[in-house]
Amino acid sequence: MTGSTFRFAPSPNGELHLGHALSVLLNSDLAKAGDDRLLLRIEDIDLTRCTPEYEAGIHEDLRWLGIGWEEPVRRQSEHFEDYAQALARLIEEELVYPAFMSRGEIRAFIAGQDKAGRDWPRDPDGAPLYPGLDKSLGTAERQRRIGDGQPFAWRLDVAAALARLDLSPGRPLEWREYDDDDLGRFRTVAADPSAWGDVILARREIPTSYHLSVIVDDALQGVTHVVRGRDLYHATAIQRLLQELLGLPAPAYRHHRLILDAEGRKLSKTLGHTGLAALRADGKTPGDIRRLVGL
Ligand code: GLU
Repeated sequence: MTGSTFRFAPSPNGELHLGHALSVLLNSDLAKAGDDRLLLRIEDIDLTRCTPEYEAGIHEDLRWLGIGWEEPVRRQSEHFEDYAQALARLIEEELVYPAFMSRGEIRAFIAGQDKAGRDWPRDPDGAPLYPGLDKSLGTAERQRRIGDGQPFAWRLDVAAALARLDLSPGRPLEWREYDDDDLGRFRTVAADPSAWGDVILARREIPTSYHLSVIVDDALQGVTHVVRGRDLYHATAIQRLLQELLGLPAPAYRHHRLILDAEGRKLSKTLGHTGLAALRADGKTPGDIRRLVGL
């Protein structure tokens, strides 16, 4: 694996829990085994939900776990310009469109479809796809609405984006997925970005999005291996599409098992008892954490 770059990319909008511990320990173990690089990236684009206290907590928890990472740490909130440049290119190439429907309008539209007995498609996370009615608005109407100050989000036109790529049978959109149990093995996964519909790439309050900033940063930081939870497996399809549109290299992926609570649910940031700070205060050692996450 020598020459590889791994990263751990938490959002400081809550405390780290055992799920994060598994992720960062896997990344750190892999980087150490190959004498490779491990980067820490703070994904704090949502300035209302991310706090300096949570960010300080991340550093404290990781140091306590014995994780070493390369400096400087990249904080996404300091790089909005990089994401704006990527977005500008997509706007220029007409691969995104201003989407004006409010949350309420989307809900009402889909309720209408459901009432009419039409099963509205949902994304892999279960959210209804964006209706995309405003995709057909003419340039003049778009400009009028924007000029009037109507709020909008930039959405990726997935159909236009797929059409733009040269997706011949010999060159499908796919990614390399390493086996979670046997790292010597990988398979090629076919990416299906249309399952997500026209995702938001930037909004008024946050001028970027998770997908856009993650692919820009992975490329700028030279990340070769993305090791993260299985909950982000399907998101890879959209990220691969964006990488291709922007001419960015595709890292290899490994989506690891999730740590579940006693009821079989994914751990959330509000489950205090699985928080690393709480476990530390309880007298647990970093070795105990490794055991608790099954390493
Ligand atoms: N910031 C994301 C999270 O905390 C992870 C992003 C990624 O690993 O791609 O869930």
